[in-house]
Amino acid sequence: MTLSVVTPMYNEREAVDHFVARLRPVLDRLDEPYEVVAVDDGSSDATVARLMQLKTDWPELRIVALRRNVGHQTALRAGLLAARGDYVVSIDADLQDPPETISEMLAAAREQNVDVVYGVRCDRSTDTAFKRNTAGAYYWMMRKLIGPWVSDQAGDFRLMSRAVVDVLNALPEPRPVYRLVVPSLGFAGAEVPYVREERVAGTTKYPLSRMIRLTFDSITGFSASPLRIATWLGLLSFVLCLGLIVTTLVAWGSGATVPGWSSLFIAVLLLGGIQLICLGLLGEYVGRIYAATQKRPPFLVALDTARLDAARPATV
Ligand code: UDP
Ligand code: MG
Repeated sequence: MTLSVVTPMYNEREAVDHFVARLRPVLDRLDEPYEVVAVDDGSSDATVARLMQLKTDWPELRIVALRRNVGHQTALRAGLLAARGDYVVSIDADLQDPPETISEMLAAAREQNVDVVYGVRCDRSTDTAFKRNTAGAYYWMMRKLIGPWVSDQAGDFRLMSRAVVDVLNALPEPRPVYRLVVPSLGFAGAEVPYVREERVAGTTKYPLSRMIRLTFDSITGFSASPLRIATWLGLLSFVLCLGLIVTTLVAWGSGATVPGWSSLFIAVLLLGGIQLICLGLLGEYVGRIYAATQKRPPFLVALDTARLDAARPATV
């Protein structure tokens, strides 16, 4: 099989028909064997039921349904593990990533002989200002923390060769953030620009809480430098404290009384705050170690139509 298209879906009943209607002609035109791995991330709406209906006249559609909602990145992981193609494309189900770009990606991978082709957003004016600003801040921080090779306009719309997918599937990490992990592997890559479109139907499945979760996973998955911030803050408050002692001694020597109530209060609050932040930071890393040592499966597959297809005797 040449190509697997992996699409995580969470409550995408409203988008799924539009998605299939646009994706299928693109893939059929390729004239190569392919599969579409629709990973249902524990949707509570009729996404799976609709996918099963669509599958009846599109055998290339494969449904991998997870037992519960595990989040976009983990659903993607389930899809990458299930995919059988020589090339694997990950794409959102809401048509924000145009399916037509897939054929460009495949051509670029072959012509330039690269293992990864990144979809790079050259225009995201259809995104809300909030989304653009938070995304801008996120990528800025990642570039500072991790390295300049983090592209600020490459999300999870990309094509990967079998070699890359095999490396990703072997990662022992509990929650890999693929948009950072993939470029960090150092495979030769190319870029294909695309215009970020508006979500075709339904609402975003990435509320602020999930964005914060992704940010914490991105930071703690890649860099221990926040832990060093604690040391620097400690040093800074120590130096400040030394200065304070000197001024107090001088004031005391010159006979001036030190009222000191508010400064004491501020100092206690400030130090308490810094300590709590640092404890929370430590907790993030310890939490990751905890999750890694538990070795619980990050997701469970309730249904994989490929298994059903394989079990069913071929009909004429
Ligand atoms: N998604 C998922 N599980 C989740 C949240 C999102 O599989 O818990 C999928 C969603 O169905 C979509 C993709 O991840 O195909 C990107 O989500 P969305 O478009 O809502 O995010 P946004 O584009 O707003 O950042
Ligand atoms: Mg979207």
